Amino acid sequence: MANLTIKNLHVRVDDESEHKEILKGVDLSMNSGEIHAIMGPNGTGKSTLSETIMGNPRYTVTEGDILLNGESLLDKPVDERARAGLFLGMQYPAEIMGVTNAEFMRSAINARRADDDPIPVREFIKELDKNLNLLDMNEKMAERYLNQGFSGGEKKRNEILQLLMIKPTFAILDEIDSGLDIDAMKVVAKGVNSMRGADFGSLIITHYERLLDYITPDVVHVMMGGRVVKSGDASLAAKLEDEGYTGLRDELGLDV
Ligand code: ADP
Ligand code: MG
Ligand code: MG
Repeated sequence: MANLTIKNLHVRVDDESEHKEILKGVDLSMNSGEIHAIMGPNGTGKSTLSETIMGNPRYTVTEGDILLNGESLLDKPVDERARAGLFLGMQYPAEIMGVTNAEFMRSAINARRADDDPIPVREFIKELDKNLNLLDMNEKMAERYLNQGFSGGEKKRNEILQLLMIKPTFAILDEIDSGLDIDAMKVVAKGVNSMRGADFGSLIITHYERLLDYITPDVVHVMMGGRVVKSGDASLAAKLEDEGYTGLRDELGLDV
């Protein structure tokens, strides 16, 4: 069983004008086999948390730690974190010039295998066909340059394709549902649900409860003001949908 633990995480972002502390002591622990959701109002630091877990150098950890199986990730660059089994599906996936989607996925898979044991081409293609099919995607998507000219919905679907191909231990999915129509969201949910199992864990960040109707989380965390202020089971998401963040803010007597 793998474990990802965030301990008293404080994070600062340096933009031109100011040094802002965005995360103010986030605590969270999850095991493989589990799906956790993070909900929270806009601007509360959810994307900051996911970028920091993945190692985006724009975010500076000033206190606390991020541990994968007990080992700190803080001094590891993004590619090493990916090799260790982390995957980040981003709110705004980047376009990459000159690299096809298939090439990208093959090199990401091989980066996690021994140098003398790359995935056999035939096996790769078989997996690719299976997953394109599962996600109802056109096979031409694999040969296109990564995210270039992809519509919003295609980008999200493609992130799930990458997830299914790369098979990370932990996937952090940041608002993979934003801007998706209901059919596309069901496809995304189907992909994530097909990954469920003892060797896979996912941290699903979402603004709305809707996605969680299709991917039932084991644990729901609510983030406000740069901290996890409440955790509970799936019913917490439904309660939030009914009562809103204001209700919870009052209940907890928060001033954020
Ligand atoms: P959420 O994902 O919960 O909406 P974010 O993590 O995107 O929240 O943002 C939290 C706060 O940090 C916001 O006030 C945002 O403006 C600020 N912030 C996040 N990333 C950056 C950045 N790269 N540069 C400057 N400010 C940032
Ligand atoms: Mg946001
Ligand atoms: Mg965000």
